[in-house]
Amino acid sequence: MPAKTSKRIPARELLFGNLWEFDPAPETAAPHIDSRYQLFINGKFTAPKSKKYFDSISPRNEEKLAEIALASDADVHAAYSAAAAAFPSWSKLSGAERGKYLYRIARLLQDRAREFAVAETLDGGKPIKESRDFDVPMAAAHFFYHAGWADKLSYAAPGRTLAPLGVVGQIIPWNFPLLMLAWKLAPALACGNTVVLKPAESTSITCMKFASILIDAGLPPGVVNFVTGAGETGAAVVNHPLAKKIAFTGSTGVGKSIQRALAGTDKRLTLELGGKAANIVFDDAPLDQAVEGIVNGIFFNQGHVCCAGSRLLVQESIASAVMSKLKMRLRSLRVGDPLDKNTDIGAINSKRQLEKIRELVQSGVDEGAQCYQPDCTLPAKGFYFPPTLFSGVSLSQRIAREEIFGPVLSILTFRTPEEAVEKANNTPYGLSAGVWTDKGSRILQMSTELKAGVVWANTYNKFDPTSPFGGFKESGFGREGGKQGLLEYAELI
Ligand code: NAP
Ligand code: MG
Repeated sequence: MPAKTSKRIPARELLFGNLWEFDPAPETAAPHIDSRYQLFINGKFTAPKSKKYFDSISPRNEEKLAEIALASDADVHAAYSAAAAAFPSWSKLSGAERGKYLYRIARLLQDRAREFAVAETLDGGKPIKESRDFDVPMAAAHFFYHAGWADKLSYAAPGRTLAPLGVVGQIIPWNFPLLMLAWKLAPALACGNTVVLKPAESTSITCMKFASILIDAGLPPGVVNFVTGAGETGAAVVNHPLAKKIAFTGSTGVGKSIQRALAGTDKRLTLELGGKAANIVFDDAPLDQAVEGIVNGIFFNQGHVCCAGSRLLVQESIASAVMSKLKMRLRSLRVGDPLDKNTDIGAINSKRQLEKIRELVQSGVDEGAQCYQPDCTLPAKGFYFPPTLFSGVSLSQRIAREEIFGPVLSILTFRTPEEAVEKANNTPYGLSAGVWTDKGSRILQMSTELKAGVVWANTYNKFDPTSPFGGFKESGFGREGGKQGLLEYAELI
């Protein structure tokens, strides 16, 4: 009998025949990006004392978008001085008055939502449908939520009084630039603190555009200050003597160096660091929903997500069924121009990140895991990487241990719930996890045993301003969001 041959047929062709294709659907709203951005200190756009600027390019096509001011130690000092001068009157405003500013900021951001979404996509490379439907609305939601807290602080800790800390220094990463800014600014301002914030070097544009919203909202000068630059600027923010608290989101390596720098000082610290989450699929899970959850868990924002479900743990009896469904689904993902409304996977944020992903993927191949990538044509210019699955992965391999921070899924199998918990917890990280099963009791048991700050059940990557987010172990400490996140910005007296 002749051997059966199977030709791989893309899912779109199965459904619509091979002539069917999407037309390009670029988002056309103007991003209003200036050619040069200064620092934002004491309510004014201020040229850097360093007189230096660096380029912000678009990972979409490697074109220069704008020049960004490089803040020196002297500029960071000016920002802290402005924040310290603004603190007495800002902290004495009634909560209701502070809340009005936050509501105004949230509404102004909503008014300019499309413009901000396009700017975020151009600067960072994420698909427009994500910046439009997730980043910008969630950023506004954080301001609305914390506006509501501003005049109700006494309910956050009954019987106690919440006092602001003073000037807080905040440092954010490049994967959710505007959203991380909102996570940091909104609770700090609601509690009556003033702020010096540094965005990531490769994604400063929406932060600097946000300064114009603060001006339009009439926020008093000095309450919020933005200093742009790279790691040295971040270190100057961390080490400034006027800082009462540092809030950092970024890599575990830099987080550890900040913790060392602050040891022995009276500055408070919260760290939101990396992750290597397990997304665990049991044999009784609804498989089609689970496959959608796996895809969302690892390919959302090109996998540049600290809580990405980057390790799939699938029960052995359904491993091959899940694998073939996943391969089928990957063939229908659209990779390419992030400005196109149909794009599922956009551009990798920077050349450096693309090189890091390539290196880790090569290590997976060298260490013997099986690599699968669907056929897809990547744009000639810009930084792109195809969605990638690794099967036959063992816990000792780098792709199972290190954060890849790209569209790469490592697939491991397990037989019993105990083995799933053991493998899921076998990592220095502990930010998030996912559980897919039909049994409520199993969800409760797994969520108790998994050492992760967030455990999603039969869903993944769900966020809400009311829900605290943060890590265990080397994923950091402190929470953002909810009442717990608010309390990180106040002294209880
Ligand atoms: P990163 O290299 O640690 O950078 C984070 C921020 O710190 C950037 O603004 C960076 O500036 C700045 N920085 C660099 N060196 C510094 C230093 N010595 N002192 C003070 N600040 C310094 O991380 P990333 O590559 O931007 O972001 C990716 C990482 O963030 C991943 O590991 C991811 O898991 C983590 N992350 C965690 C969460 C969470 O909530 N747990 C959320 C998002 C991302 P430049 O970029 O300008 O150099
Ligand atoms: Mg950029």
